[in-house]
Amino acid sequence: MEKLEETHMQQKRGRRLVLIPLPFQGHINPMFQLANILHSRGFSITIIHTHFNSPNPSNYPHFTFEPIADGLSGSEAETTDLVALVATLNINCVTPLRDCLARLLSNNSEEPISCIISDAGFHFTQSVADSLKLPRMVLRTGCVLTFVAFAAYPLLLQKGYLPIQVAHYHLPCINFQDSRLEEPVPELAPLKVKDIPVSNTRDPEILYQLVASVIKETKSCSGLIWNSFEDLEESALTTIRKQYPAPIFPIGPLHKCSPASTSSWLIEDQTCLAWLDTQAPRSVIYVSFGSIASMDETEFVETAWGLVNSMQPFLWVVRPGSIRGSKWIEQLPDGFLEKIKGRGHIVKWAPQQEVLAHPAVGGFWSHCGWNSTLESICEGVPMLCRPWFGDQMMNARYICDDWRVGVQMENGLKRGEIERAIRRLMVEREGEELRERIITLEEKMEICLKKGGSSYECLGNLVSYILSF
Ligand code: UDP
Repeated sequence: MEKLEETHMQQKRGRRLVLIPLPFQGHINPMFQLANILHSRGFSITIIHTHFNSPNPSNYPHFTFEPIADGLSGSEAETTDLVALVATLNINCVTPLRDCLARLLSNNSEEPISCIISDAGFHFTQSVADSLKLPRMVLRTGCVLTFVAFAAYPLLLQKGYLPIQVAHYHLPCINFQDSRLEEPVPELAPLKVKDIPVSNTRDPEILYQLVASVIKETKSCSGLIWNSFEDLEESALTTIRKQYPAPIFPIGPLHKCSPASTSSWLIEDQTCLAWLDTQAPRSVIYVSFGSIASMDETEFVETAWGLVNSMQPFLWVVRPGSIRGSKWIEQLPDGFLEKIKGRGHIVKWAPQQEVLAHPAVGGFWSHCGWNSTLESICEGVPMLCRPWFGDQMMNARYICDDWRVGVQMENGLKRGEIERAIRRLMVEREGEELRERIITLEEKMEICLKKGGSSYECLGNLVSYILSF
């Protein structure tokens, strides 16, 4: 065994991997975690990235960075139509990526490139890799079930489940008037129609085209890496193994095997950790809706009152710009900050993994982004789910109905609903049961990362596989 690892180390010396993240926080984080893991296994790492949402190279002195032109105009870069934005990047980046890779390949002083590892959302990287005869692996940063759902889009369209009427993506994304929304989708159990992953865009055809291209090019890739683990998504992984010819590597949760480092764009406010130190064990509800979701003024004020009326201590991340029409928290009612002194703490951005690991945190009110979901499971913190768009509805269904480690708030943001949901999670017996179940899930996750565990073994297989190129 040791001899084998030694041989691997020798083979890896002088092998370079080129990683290409999709430029959004929830995609950058797992891609950099993967980069760290593979670097610690002996590979050299080059990150090719767009100027748009460019990462900070000084956080990663052990990597090489290659920026490429993304051709986005000012208005394209500022759009809230993420589907259209990703579709545009998939067109604009083709030539810059090809030129960049061709230059790296012709540079004799560089180590040979074993393969590229691209975010699944950058489907154009497959044709570029093919044209340069480079193997392309794919990292999918969301849950496995989203891919099963994406592959089922043609069927969902044919059966009339799609299109779902969605509001503008940062509004509550479901039109509750639609009578079919509560129907189960037997082809995608345990999902209901309203959980199908969709994001609003000016033209649904752009979404369908993008999804179709992502699925097609992922089927052509040389291997598929998932930030998930066997015990969490056994059924979806079984389906995926039947649908995709390439080897499948569920090696997550990535942040648990990656050396600590930050790929945050915003500065993490460390003061909240000292504030948490002053609170009783498991008493605090941590509230964060990730890096993209936003709300209107009414929802913001309802959330503020719901938190206060719940009588639970809370740590609330309000990202600057996430309240539409405001810079930050100026829409809070007069006297609000006085009222919550000692019991509530508001920050612009938190060191989330450390917050969730803090003994004072007893619950996480989340938008159910996949990274947040995994981070909560890894710290055994039960969740209050309020998804916004994309795969978040699906993640929330998993959390509440499949793993049963959270409660879902399904009727919009109203102070009474919020207060009631927080008390269910933080005070009532139901919350205790959720906690017991998520701790069991956390234990399964720990086992899968240990020697002999599924993710641990899969990572070893991934390294051997890359060495075989
Ligand atoms: N995050 C953070 N501080 C915050 C809020 C979020 O570091 O105050 C991190 C969080 O730990 C996670 C990522 O931002 O890794 C958000 O990714 P997720 O998939 O949960 O949601 P998205 O931002 O993509 O909607």
